[in-house]
Amino acid sequence: MQVTVLGKSPAWQDADGACSGYLIEEAGVRVVLDCGNGVFGKLRRFADYVEIDAVVISHLHADHFLDLVPFSYALKYAPRQQPVAVGGWPGTDDPARPVLHVPEGGRDVFRRVVGAWGSEDLVETAFELREYRPDHVLEVGPLRVRFREVPHFTQTHAVEFAADGAGRLTYGADHSPTDDLVDFARDTDLLLIEATLPRPEREGPRGHMTPAEAGDHGRRAQARRLVLTHISDELDADWARAEAEREFGGPVELAREGAAYTV
Ligand SMILES: [Zn+2]
Ligand SMILES: [Zn+2]
Repeated sequence: MQVTVLGKSPAWQDADGACSGYLIEEAGVRVVLDCGNGVFGKLRRFADYVEIDAVVISHLHADHFLDLVPFSYALKYAPRQQPVAVGGWPGTDDPARPVLHVPEGGRDVFRRVVGAWGSEDLVETAFELREYRPDHVLEVGPLRVRFREVPHFTQTHAVEFAADGAGRLTYGADHSPTDDLVDFARDTDLLLIEATLPRPEREGPRGHMTPAEAGDHGRRAQARRLVLTHISDELDADWARAEAEREFGGPVELAREGAAYTV
């Protein structure tokens, strides 16, 4: 299984960056995991969007789904997705319509977002939209996708990808410190874990983690490889890595756009 980082920024993009998005590939099957702002343009550097089999959204925050909007426009209005030949493209009677797996309530959220300019059904007509529950196990070609609810400001799911003959990828999505993620990621081959904060939240409920907390979760889960993500270019990368490595007890990587990992 190959994992390519399309975007790793937190809720605001790095310079020239993108928010959360990862391309998962196994045996010719391609899945986009989260599709935050900026991700669609990055995806086009690595894959043809009409060849994406499925998109999986961890939670309904803008930085994890907003580029479903341009993705939907491409699927609906790109010349090669039309039934009649135009602009040098042959027509097609079989336009690409990837499956879009979203948490419960996703359809309504998208309707409200794109309904702001009167396009309520844009996302659900561009994609084959399916809402999942945390206990669902999805199958996308050879990939098995599992979920675990994690504590965050809205219903949020850590996501695992596994396939026979390949390893396990665990993606924590966004969350406060939690034993649920440690349990879900136990012995995983690659843990992509958020390290959003330079210090714990000063007030209110917690919803994110520091690099040191990410390292601690990786150690307790005994993850074989730990990659920090959902981290701004405004945080010092060397500081973040050192903080995480101290708690993890081994080398830690920082996600970088375009980086690819084999699991
Ligand atoms: Zn979030
Ligand atoms: Zn986020």
